[in-house]
Amino acid sequence: MRMLPYWLDTAPPFTGAEPGPAEGGVDVAVIGGGFTGLSAALHLARKGASVALLEAGRVMGAASGRNGGHVNNGTAHDFAGLAASLGLDHARRLYHAFDDAVDTVERLAREEQIACDFRRCGKIKLAAKPAHYEKMARGFDLLHREADAETELVPRERLGAEIGSERFFGGLVFRRSAQMHVGRFGTGLAEAARRQGARIFENTPVLSLKRQAGGHAVATARGTLRARQVLLATGASRLGPFYFRRRLVPLGSFVIVTEPLGAARLAALMPTGRNGTTTRIIGNYFRTTPDGRLVWGGRARFALPSRASDARSGRVLERGLHETFPQLGRVGIDYCWGGIIDATQDRLPRAGEQDGLFYATGYSGHGVQMSVHMGGVMAAVMDGRPEANPFRGLAWKPVPGHFGPPWFMPLAGLYYRLQDRIS
Ligand SMILES: Cc1cc2nc3c(=O)[nH]c(=O)nc-3n(C[C@H](O)[C@H](O)[C@H](O)COP(=O)(O)OP(=O)(O)OC[C@H]3O[C@@H](n4cnc5c(N)ncnc54)[C@H](O)[C@@H]3O)c2cc1C
Repeated sequence: MRMLPYWLDTAPPFTGAEPGPAEGGVDVAVIGGGFTGLSAALHLARKGASVALLEAGRVMGAASGRNGGHVNNGTAHDFAGLAASLGLDHARRLYHAFDDAVDTVERLAREEQIACDFRRCGKIKLAAKPAHYEKMARGFDLLHREADAETELVPRERLGAEIGSERFFGGLVFRRSAQMHVGRFGTGLAEAARRQGARIFENTPVLSLKRQAGGHAVATARGTLRARQVLLATGASRLGPFYFRRRLVPLGSFVIVTEPLGAARLAALMPTGRNGTTTRIIGNYFRTTPDGRLVWGGRARFALPSRASDARSGRVLERGLHETFPQLGRVGIDYCWGGIIDATQDRLPRAGEQDGLFYATGYSGHGVQMSVHMGGVMAAVMDGRPEANPFRGLAWKPVPGHFGPPWFMPLAGLYYRLQDRIS
């Protein structure tokens, strides 16, 4: 078993990184080489800005290369809950921002000719308990009428056409959702940004940011850049103002990938080939790959990733996989890895300007599509169009008692386990 992401192991690496020092002056310094940063660099360079992207490790080395490969529409919250807390119009706007985000990924893959197996496969959200399906069914009319006519409720008696598992009590299909090979997409995005003139520095951690006349001094391990504007595209990292540390919670999530299972076996497990997610808080997300594997992810344990933690989480995930599909028997697990999710308390992203720095973050595990989209949005915002930002004006309160490291994670894990048992 390889303790690294399948996506990075099966994609061509990006080979266009700058060899020299990171010095001189630029219009924009983009910090972070995940999807937010790469997409922003591409969109800014397309507008004619001089751009330096500064990445601490390799591009896509963090969440963007370590996720489940779902490009889903729909918000993390159920639509009825979102409408109850924000009002119908606001909820609809946010919901449609996720539709736009899936469209953005599809458009960029087409425009930049990125061969990443993008496919509108749809997603099915599977009810892990009868009460979860009842809640889905109660909220369905509002969702279908007000936000997404391409959704469909699937009762338990018809679920066999969607999934070869007896564990679920019904489901909700979102037809606009998609999937792709995130490794190939990321390399393609980096190459596209470079073609447009953005300079991409790998192994170049930003050490400090200082405001100065006409912009910022961006000190890196390979020199200091002067930048008129700075975009923080740093995911769950701790760079930037303390403001973010009080509002973003880093959460671990883990993934295993099986050996190739063959088309017939996969079709018996997931006949429609959609992305699957489950309704438990400590639930699972899964999909198939074009080379016949099953990608199976989940929070598994409330722990941050490390080699040992990933291996332990991988064993938890493997048990869940066999409980869901007992007919599979024992299958080989070829890949196992973990990554960090940048979560907000309400699981909605945040973007804007803070202390003179632009930022887009807090995708809360629903960020493959949204990070790509927000890269383009932030290029517009930095060009003087703040109204382009779908998350503009969302209140963002600090998490009580949170000042950096998530000390409360084991307690939260116990609480969520209990919720999963009683809900
Ligand atoms: C295990 C897992 C599964 C997931 N599954 C899905 C899924 O199936 N679908 C979905 O929609 N979303 C999923 N997500 C979430 C999604 O991957 C992220 O929301 C998205 O990739 C965030 O992109 P980003 O560019 O904002 O952040 P990242 O990809 O985390 O990039 C941030 C970059 O900033 C760099 N950086 C940080 N600090 C510095 C510094 N000081 N100097 C220079 N560089 C710095 C980091 O090295 C990193 O490369 C998952 C996430 C994880 C971890």
